[in-house]
Amino acid sequence: MNSVANTVASSRGTARLELDGLSRSFGAYNALDGIDLAIEPGEFVALLGPSGCGKSTALNCIAGLLALSGGEIRLGGKRIDQLEPERRGFGMVFQSYALFPHMSVRKNVGFGLTMQGIKGPEADKRINDALALVRLESQAEKLPGQLSGGQQQRVAIARAIVIRPPIVLMDEPLSNLDAKLRLEMRAEIRGIHDQIGSTTIYVTHDQDEALSLADRIVVMSQGHIEQIGSPQDLYQRPVNVGVADFMGFRTRVSGKVVSVSGEEAEIDVAGARITGTMRTPLKTGDAAILSVRPEDLVAADEGIAATVSSMEYRGRAFFGLARSADGSDLYFRADDALPRGTATRLKPVAGRALLFGDSAR
Ligand code: ATP
Repeated sequence: MNSVANTVASSRGTARLELDGLSRSFGAYNALDGIDLAIEPGEFVALLGPSGCGKSTALNCIAGLLALSGGEIRLGGKRIDQLEPERRGFGMVFQSYALFPHMSVRKNVGFGLTMQGIKGPEADKRINDALALVRLESQAEKLPGQLSGGQQQRVAIARAIVIRPPIVLMDEPLSNLDAKLRLEMRAEIRGIHDQIGSTTIYVTHDQDEALSLADRIVVMSQGHIEQIGSPQDLYQRPVNVGVADFMGFRTRVSGKVVSVSGEEAEIDVAGARITGTMRTPLKTGDAAILSVRPEDLVAADEGIAATVSSMEYRGRAFFGLARSADGSDLYFRADDALPRGTATRLKPVAGRALLFGDSAR
């Protein structure tokens, strides 16, 4: 191992990663537009955002698979953005698993060690440890094609962590798995992170995944950061309508502020009076947007008038879509199925609606 790789490997769990003005353009298009972010050692950070917002570009820049157009990346205070990917020594897990099909599980896992010149008993021990961590000891001699999707992804994780990387980078690692396996693997990924003590940066477009896995979530949109916060912060206090939408506040309806009291305001939405918590400053007469989650919007006598378009049963309750007179979509919860075309009135559960200024989109 050369001295730089040595430094990186020995910084496991102790080095802060700093992204300073991270930028990357493709031709005239700025896929990443000056990202500033510091990630503490051992943190689990999720990069969350819609398709095309630049999450994978950011991850690939950190990995060294993409060169920067501007900015710096520092690990433990030292610049690493000029280093080749293998000299950064980060572990990577991709959506596609990217395993070698003709190599056994053991050989796949050991590949990174071979590249680092680690052989013999030391390599065997590390491979066995990594396989034990992902519970695949009994599958070591199989080929990837003989394993299930979940098992293949566990091989990819073992391969990423066997090199004892200071940082593990994961790009939508659960996207190819079915819903049940995704849940199981989520718990496993967090468990592995906690055991090995590396920093993990995890790209996903799935807010549930980010909420359940991460210590901190970075919400991205169009190449920049919209909000950084703990899962609780983002879930309860999104800074704008876009982040709110992404965090599950699916209904957004326009209205006009009729009164303000402390942190709350009352707005008029098509004749209905709705109270919500202000997330941006509002005053009487301002145009406002009401954001609310489907589970927090329910039928009420004095709610927003709407007509039911569709309903589906989700176990504990029914969830429906209704349309207001001005064409807004209202996603709501109900105890019973309502036939399509039913006229209803919908109102947020007290304390659950957020209000944003009309320009805070
Ligand atoms: P997804 O979840 O769909 O993977 P993402 O948030 O990871 O999305 P990126 O893959 O980082 O998004 O892409 C960000 C933007 O940069 C997109 O508009 C994409 O089309 C563009 N882009 C990414 N790679 C290239 C490339 N090699 N050449 C040109 N444009 C690219």
